[in-house]
Amino acid sequence: MKMSFEDNIRRVVPYTPGEQPDRKVIKLNTNECPYPPSKEVSGAIRDMDAGSLRLYPEVACQTLIRELGNYYGVDEDKIFAGVGSDDVLSMCFLTFFAGNKAVIFPDITYSFYDVWAEVYRIPYETIPLDYEFKIRPGDYKRENGGVVIANPNAPTGVLLEPDKIEEIIAANPDSVVIVDEAYIDFGGKTALPLIDRYDNLIVVRTMSKSRALAGMRIGYAFGDRKLIKYLNDVKYSVNSYTLNTPALLTGAAAIRDREYFEEITGKIIKTREKTQKRLKEMGFSFFGSSTNFVFASPPSGKTAKEVFEELKKRDIFVRHFNKARISGYLRITIGTDEEMDALFDALEEIIK
Ligand code: PMP
Repeated sequence: MKMSFEDNIRRVVPYTPGEQPDRKVIKLNTNECPYPPSKEVSGAIRDMDAGSLRLYPEVACQTLIRELGNYYGVDEDKIFAGVGSDDVLSMCFLTFFAGNKAVIFPDITYSFYDVWAEVYRIPYETIPLDYEFKIRPGDYKRENGGVVIANPNAPTGVLLEPDKIEEIIAANPDSVVIVDEAYIDFGGKTALPLIDRYDNLIVVRTMSKSRALAGMRIGYAFGDRKLIKYLNDVKYSVNSYTLNTPALLTGAAAIRDREYFEEITGKIIKTREKTQKRLKEMGFSFFGSSTNFVFASPPSGKTAKEVFEELKKRDIFVRHFNKARISGYLRITIGTDEEMDALFDALEEIIK
């Protein structure tokens, strides 16, 4: 049979992002922040000289990295920046997982991990979470080509205690361990200080959730200088100018405003606790969340999919994953108190 160009094409099953409807709805489906970014961000946009866009942006992202270094007390050569943490994580997969052994991560976790493994042809194996959706550190003490842990995990919202994260890092000195802390600012304890003690650790963060900048696409990572150098070598071999000038300026501005960051993350945590209380009263079951979303299973009578569809009819968007073990759950982003009240009213009506 004749070969066709089809035989040369890299075919993949892509990641499915949450819907971004083009009309106003109560949007609790993609874990965005319900509050606007810091006033420092609006100021940075206002003061930006459009003329500067004639030039390429900073190749080393130093405006942002300098600010991150000051804020977190980390040397600049231990920080990497990318176009959202998706870009940072994708670069990590490409850089650190070039061996033949399987990379390991939980069976229920951020559904982009297996997509990157597939697109980069990285062998991988998934390890089941326990019945409470918890990671068992003992399961990660086996031969592997790398380890990826989201902490808190998504879409479950469940946090793994810092000593258990350290146990996994310490048990894998011959592999790079990536800890994806996209949701750590909502009450979790970071693994960041461990980068000074473990040269195999990468901690990944995002400005999309706790800094209200999903639309700017800013992510970053911390790690040993050698790992950061390897990451930059790959970045400069794929696309050197990643973050654009407005992103570098607004990201630095957002980091400077610690007070506002604490105010909005505090508000989200408070609304989350109230939400969990209300959902429990309505008969939902869930394991406690340490994130800006809750992952809850509706009481018997209606399936999660039915509740998802009923909510959608009322212009309330949440996320449902049609996947083994989690198809009975809904992932609900924490919105403003008013948005959550509208959700509670709709849920009362749907499940009664
Ligand atoms: N990691 C996890 C666990 C996430 O849920 C998300 C959000 N989809 C990301 C990383 C990526 O976020 P972003 O690219 O917006 O930084």
